Amino acid sequence: MPETRESMAYDVVIVGGGPAGLAAAIRLKQMSSDISVCLLEKGSEIGAHILSGAVLDPKALNELIPDWKAKGAPVETRVTQDRFWFFTQSSAIALPHVLFPPLMSNRGNYIVSLSNLCKWLGQQAEALGVEIYPGFPAHDLIVEDGVVKGVITGDLGVAKDGHHKDSYTPGMELRGKYTLFAEGARGSLSKQLGAKFGLQEGREPQKFGIGLKELWELPAAQHQKGLVLHGMGWPLSNDTGGGLFMYHWGDNFCSIGFVVHLNYKNPWLDPFGEFQRAKTHPAIAKMLSGGKRIGYGARAITEGGTQSVPKLSFPGGALIGCAAGFVNLPRIKGSHNAMKTGMLAAEAAAAAVQAGRAGDALEDYDRAYVQSWVAKDLYLVRNAKPLWSRLGSLLALPLIGLDMWTNQLFGISLFGTLGHGEPDFATLKPAAGSVKIAYPKPDGHLTFDRASSLFLSGTNHEEDQPVHLKLRDPGIPISVNLPEYAEPAQRYCPAGVYEVIEESTGPRFQINAQNCVHCKTCDIKDPAQNITWVTPEGGGGPNYTNM
Ligand SMILES: Cc1cc2nc3c(=O)[nH]c(=O)nc-3n(C[C@H](O)[C@H](O)[C@H](O)COP(=O)(O)OP(=O)(O)OC[C@H]3O[C@@H](n4cnc5c(N)ncnc54)[C@H](O)[C@@H]3O)c2cc1C
Ligand code: SF4
Repeated sequence: MPETRESMAYDVVIVGGGPAGLAAAIRLKQMSSDISVCLLEKGSEIGAHILSGAVLDPKALNELIPDWKAKGAPVETRVTQDRFWFFTQSSAIALPHVLFPPLMSNRGNYIVSLSNLCKWLGQQAEALGVEIYPGFPAHDLIVEDGVVKGVITGDLGVAKDGHHKDSYTPGMELRGKYTLFAEGARGSLSKQLGAKFGLQEGREPQKFGIGLKELWELPAAQHQKGLVLHGMGWPLSNDTGGGLFMYHWGDNFCSIGFVVHLNYKNPWLDPFGEFQRAKTHPAIAKMLSGGKRIGYGARAITEGGTQSVPKLSFPGGALIGCAAGFVNLPRIKGSHNAMKTGMLAAEAAAAAVQAGRAGDALEDYDRAYVQSWVAKDLYLVRNAKPLWSRLGSLLALPLIGLDMWTNQLFGISLFGTLGHGEPDFATLKPAAGSVKIAYPKPDGHLTFDRASSLFLSGTNHEEDQPVHLKLRDPGIPISVNLPEYAEPAQRYCPAGVYEVIEESTGPRFQINAQNCVHCKTCDIKDPAQNITWVTPEGGGGPNYTNM
């Protein structure tokens, strides 16, 4: 007998409770309290899966909730110092501000926990009447006659072998006249939508980085509230993009993180190991000494910029925020653009609902994006990523600076608009010809192993459930990836999910799915594109606090 599911209908369904989804939800209710809005979030609560830097450009928040200060938004630490360092192994060279055009300035910005800001935005949305369901991942699309009609939440109570446990509850259908996808970088349903509606056609491939982050508490004497520090160079080799960030905020908090561009070539590279090494630089170690690490996590970040922005709307819905990819890479900022695109899509959806429409493509949103300050924000920095990928850090840095200056001052670029070339999964070189990288052993004070890090992420999944990291061909990790690339999943996964275990019968690929922090790196970087990340049972995943 076919299974019956509960079904609920709304004007607008929103998938994902990050800055994009929450800003969209709030804007919809601001446009009309009569519009019914439901928001699904896979984390156990709003903010539980949000990991960011984060230096917030408050531009979008000012537009969305102008009196956010009076309403008690957790946006308190103003940026007071803005430093940029180039690291060699033993020294940190401060780069003068004159190298960077005004668009790079952090004046007027705030250091926040984006996770906390999302919690607060969630409260604002609920106060306006948005129905928020945390712990409910949108697992499948409802597509009828070529139109997205909503989503189906994940089933509960399915055992690892697929049988239904006593606790089995089928997922619910949430139907909407429009569905906005705000899943963030490499959304699992957004990826399906991209393929189904050809949203990336005629665009450059999306590019990504992996961002790893720790939260520290520093001794008061070392805490420089309002300090923003960005660094590049050591320990990454010249042909690997990425860098370090360190933000001092709140009561002695220090957010320190490391981004590695996922178009790296050396399969021996371990982003987690690079992050740990970066902290041992004398200039950084000094700032952290005597401090205590209290949080850890990782998340992919979009880096493709304007060239990679897909078509945003399709029949019945649209992509908003980093599900489409609006991060300004040189500024390492995406949350303001995520919020603004959420607001633009909400305005288009509200107008459509009020006009009695349903299920068409929200083309007004595509047009509004092109006219918006988001598109301008991204256009000015469009060559930063391609130059970095082509030329390596040393040569690219001055040219990126020059390009951003000419763009900002005269509206022109000497390079036109450069493309990105290959997608990130295609950039690895064979392990045999690549230099092995030796990572120092963790000392337990400044540097740590994956297991103790994972503990701080609060990651938890129901153990008896189907593995949510799906292998198209279970043989590929051992038969192809191991001989060719020394199976890089063992190293790029920041949570130790993938292991190659040597047994008497030969090597075996093991997936410790319960460790997953939902960063999505495996879905992006696996050279065979053999791994698909799907949503696990609701509420599973990290439980970030102050991240
Ligand atoms: C290490 C790092 C540092 C960064 N630093 C900065 C910074 O300093 N300043 C800045 O402005 N930006 C920064 N960014 C970028 C910024 O975090 C993103 O641009 C922003 O979070 C994007 O917002 P979003 O709402 O689109 O997606 P996300 O913030 O990723 O939120 C997506 C939400 O949707 C949920 N979700 C996903 N799929 C589903 C599903 N199928 N069902 C239900 N729920 C789902 C997720 O659990 C999550 O809560 C940084 C990013 C990283 C990784
Ligand atoms: S399994 Fe994939 S999504 Fe999960 S933590 Fe590892 S790389 Fe990230």
